[in-house]
Amino acid sequence: MKKNITRTTRLLKDKAHSKRAVAPPIYQTSLFSFEKYSDLEESFCGIGDHEIYSRVRNPTVSLFEEKVAELEGGEAAAAFACGMGAISGVIMELAEQGDRIVTVKHTYPDAYRFMKQLCKKFGMTTEFVDGTDLDAIEKSIQGAKLLYLESPGSFMMEEQNLAAIATLAKKHGVITIIDNSWSTPFLQNPIELGIDVVIHSASKYISGHSDVVAGIAVSRQELITEIKRNSTALLGAKLSAHEAGLLLRGLRTLPVRLKQHQESALIIIDKLVRHPAVAKVYHPYVDKKDFSTLKGYSSLLSIDLADDIDVIKFCDAFEIFHIGVSWGGYESLVLPALASIKRGGEFNSAVDFNLSPQCVRLFIGLEDVNDLWSDIENALEKAKKA
Ligand SMILES: *Cc1c(COP(=O)(O)O)cnc(C)c1O
Repeated sequence: MKKNITRTTRLLKDKAHSKRAVAPPIYQTSLFSFEKYSDLEESFCGIGDHEIYSRVRNPTVSLFEEKVAELEGGEAAAAFACGMGAISGVIMELAEQGDRIVTVKHTYPDAYRFMKQLCKKFGMTTEFVDGTDLDAIEKSIQGAKLLYLESPGSFMMEEQNLAAIATLAKKHGVITIIDNSWSTPFLQNPIELGIDVVIHSASKYISGHSDVVAGIAVSRQELITEIKRNSTALLGAKLSAHEAGLLLRGLRTLPVRLKQHQESALIIIDKLVRHPAVAKVYHPYVDKKDFSTLKGYSSLLSIDLADDIDVIKFCDAFEIFHIGVSWGGYESLVLPALASIKRGGEFNSAVDFNLSPQCVRLFIGLEDVNDLWSDIENALEKAKKA
């Protein structure tokens, strides 16, 4: 291989596969057979490199894991059936009864629910801390087992000082985990900053087409081996070969898609911050931090609508944006905090962290940016309270 080929090109362009296929084959098989008894016995005893059963290991899934691990600068990765599979799998592996987990506020709502509901059931306690307050973090992590981060967050988009936090956590012997879904492996690499485990919901930008639900965790080999033995093999949240094939396809266009997402998002943000119907825009491009470790911007942002704008009318006025959860695909999306607030119930992060009912999340997709801006402008106009 030529020396001057970039890491990205080397990783995204496969060597030719079997039959010189340029796309990776999808090993759609549950089991792998053995030629003779001694091969089976060796595999059972951990000798050699023979797949046994796709719950535990599958070559298409392994290829996806290798690529994301290298893109993140980690030694190894474990793929999961979804982002929550990765989050729960990693925490269940690294923490046990009696442990305390510190989590930044405004994490993904189901991660919040997992900490509050399931961790409690297994005898772990969780404590929530303002991720932008280093003193508060240092105070709360003393004696804790894990520190769970999400930076930028996926609703308030706030950035945490990852390098400083990693140093504090090392000083106090606390394992750090980050949900890096907003950035993808192309816009931020927390392992290089000293964070221990990086998690992605691959359902978002990595898949890129809103047709896969998947997750992945990247870390040191030792930790990933442990996570796989327990989480994927025993709890069973493994990724399917078919979805791994779609994710390998998604990875190839991810850097190109991100360029367009960034370009469109920044054009729209520049207009939103000047618009009288918008009280505030939440995105790292607006709230730039000296400590930022982002290599670029993705296109998930939130806005607070001005008091004279009706949130429901705003959502219903869109012609191009869809109303919906998730993000990272082709289509632009709008998601009002109001629905989460109205949902009520226990362990509701929108309620517990006082999200404003005027707050609306926007995902800027890959449609023509002028069409998208017209759609937003029109929705703001139509949503003015009488
Ligand atoms: C969607 C999402 C998750 C959960 O991922 P799933 O693949 O839906 O299980 C976790 N974190 C963030 C930031 C997300 O957006």
